[in-house]
Amino acid sequence: MQKFEKLSDRLFYLPPYQKTDRPILAAVVGEKQTLIIDAGNSSDHAKLFNEQLAAHQVYGDILILTHWHWDHVFGLSEMNMPSIANSLTYDNIKKLQKYSWDDGALEQRVESGIEIPFCADAIKLELGKNREISIPDPTILFDHQLKLNLGGITCHIEHLGGDHSPDSNIVYIPEEKALFLGDCLYSNMYAEKWHYTYEQMNRLLNKIESFEANIYFLSHHPAPLTKQQFSSFANLLRTSAELTKKHQGELNAITSEMSSQFGRELNEDDLEIITYFINGFFQ
Ligand SMILES: [Zn+2]
Repeated sequence: MQKFEKLSDRLFYLPPYQKTDRPILAAVVGEKQTLIIDAGNSSDHAKLFNEQLAAHQVYGDILILTHWHWDHVFGLSEMNMPSIANSLTYDNIKKLQKYSWDDGALEQRVESGIEIPFCADAIKLELGKNREISIPDPTILFDHQLKLNLGGITCHIEHLGGDHSPDSNIVYIPEEKALFLGDCLYSNMYAEKWHYTYEQMNRLLNKIESFEANIYFLSHHPAPLTKQQFSSFANLLRTSAELTKKHQGELNAITSEMSSQFGRELNEDDLEIITYFINGFFQ
């Protein structure tokens, strides 16, 4: 089981669980209200989080969805509280509400390209045989940004989009210098080839780097990143984007220049990111 973490009296999180693609869930605790970040990928996931939170006498009042993907919204009904979503997330949830999730329906959607095997497999693993999913309508809708005053602590929610999902929001907590990035820095997986694009990555990183943060939460990273870890991850993304553009998607030229820039051999993670940019360049 993932180990529940208390970072301060105002910040709690449950780390992700890779096997069934559970993302990070978090709570921002104010004097008046507590904000929950994301609903989890099942009732069980939401329940586990709520129980761990309750052990610290913390209870959520309102929830923000970082984006519409199944693993962030399937626990919404179990969370049982008002939720905030941007209009694009809302539209996508309206589509999800119409789907059934049994093997046949999943297979059909994978075949027609609406669903991807990666998610279909994780859905089966997480939910087992009981795949009755009801996702309530989000309660509060916004388009660009929204600020919450939870009492002594504030949350700045901004719709940034990006390659992973056009509806991606980030949540910034200035008093804790904490930035929740959801999945926005991950690749576009709902495509023939998983990919990143130069334009989206540049725009996202410029925006993200305008927030002053000391801790960065990426929803499927095993642990939050320090300022230094984030800056080296951002540097890897930015360098891959720039070199892919400069060398017109030529793998060998990209890797050899990057390796000499970094003064080290490239590893598997580096190569995966470069591959996503090359896929994006040629798509
Ligand atoms: Zn996602």
